[in-house]
Amino acid sequence: MLVKNSSRAPVQNPGKVLGAGFLDTVRGVEGLPRPPKDRRVEFIPHLTYFKPQGVPLGFLDEVALTIEELEALRLKDLEGLDQEGCAKKMQVARTTFRRILVSARAKVAEALINGKAIRIEGGNYRLAVARFICLECMYDWEAGGIQRPCPKCGARKVQRMEQNGSDFHHPHRGDRGRWPEKKGGS
Ligand SMILES: [Zn+2]
Repeated sequence: MLVKNSSRAPVQNPGKVLGAGFLDTVRGVEGLPRPPKDRRVEFIPHLTYFKPQGVPLGFLDEVALTIEELEALRLKDLEGLDQEGCAKKMQVARTTFRRILVSARAKVAEALINGKAIRIEGGNYRLAVARFICLECMYDWEAGGIQRPCPKCGARKVQRMEQNGSDFHHPHRGDRGRWPEKKGGS
């Protein structure tokens, strides 16, 4: 764990060079505590560590990608939503989304170009909850917003029940980093 000395000299050219200064900019200026606002995510990865092959462990450096950074990549680069749509989904301002996305891409690029491992963990997020129904056994349940096999019969014919574009708000905020699964009636 890197413990940073907050009393050190400020970064001279933040954002100019893809070096330590850039990453500091991406992480936020030290010494200015920003009240963490949870970003809504629909996806918590099961695989959270990616490493380049053939690099001895002792030489391996890693970058840490947060859950909300991964969500930004997923929405923008995998699902192909525009930034407006992404920001809406994550319930942040467009500028905030842009910042998260830029940070995420920089980290992935850093890992690919410089042969670093990627660790996905932490961040300020809450898992959105959606309702699913199994088309085989008609069992329905709530889970994070991506499709998974039916927890009852294991069938993969599962449909997400949309709620006219509005967001699924979980009434509780204690779901950080956890997979909330409630038994639904069937
Ligand atoms: Zn089923």
